[in-house]
Amino acid sequence: MSVWAVLAAAGRGERLGDDKPKVFARLGDLPLLAEPLRRLEESDWVEQIVIAAPPGWEEPCILLAEEIGAGKVASVVAGGATRIASVEFALAEVADDAAVVLVHDAARPLLPDDVVERVLAPLSEGWDGAVPALPIADTVKRIRGDEVVETLDREGLVVTQTPQAFVAESLHGAFSPSNGLSQDGGGATDCSSLVEAHGGRIKVVPGDARLLKVTTPGDLELVASWL
Ligand code: C5P
Repeated sequence: MSVWAVLAAAGRGERLGDDKPKVFARLGDLPLLAEPLRRLEESDWVEQIVIAAPPGWEEPCILLAEEIGAGKVASVVAGGATRIASVEFALAEVADDAAVVLVHDAARPLLPDDVVERVLAPLSEGWDGAVPALPIADTVKRIRGDEVVETLDREGLVVTQTPQAFVAESLHGAFSPSNGLSQDGGGATDCSSLVEAHGGRIKVVPGDARLLKVTTPGDLELVASWL
């Protein structure tokens, strides 16, 4: 099974309050991007990696990959205006003979290899994709402005993370122009939702709290403390 990884790293990360893109914020001694990249490089499951870089930051991404010896990086492309556009651009660089594409947010630097294994396993059982998820501990409400409209039954609700794994054909199908995908992916915030909308069957597997997505300076400190 030939597995290619797409690392979505093109976010601006304005909430981190830095003048650099989020993936170039410091995590330990290196830019944040080094951590998920090293983990994908060291994963025996992953054959090649394509990075969607912040536009204009392709060269620093290539240099960082060289610095940490990430020889599996096949290509670095400029990302798009949305995460979906960034993944679409990276997907164009994935080899035609790749059987599986693993899509991961660089903003979730602490990627445990057992989660990679968990999302890949269902693909050999006939699933089109698999996503890691965690149960919801808090009560979830739908609001309008500052008014509660509805309290949702959290039974049967989960929060999903990345890495998300897909049969390459299913992911390409979900992104194909004939699928009528708009420039912003119709507002989709993950790839699974596109594959779902295309009729794909997605399996949910246990996620991991360490896959926290770095959004604020506090998240960065927390993740640094887990290194
Ligand atoms: O913005 P958000 O935190 O949801 O981004 C999730 C992931 O998608 C991050 O790793 C970010 O770098 C990536 N992203 C991207 N291209 C964009 C926006 C976000 O690759 N235009």
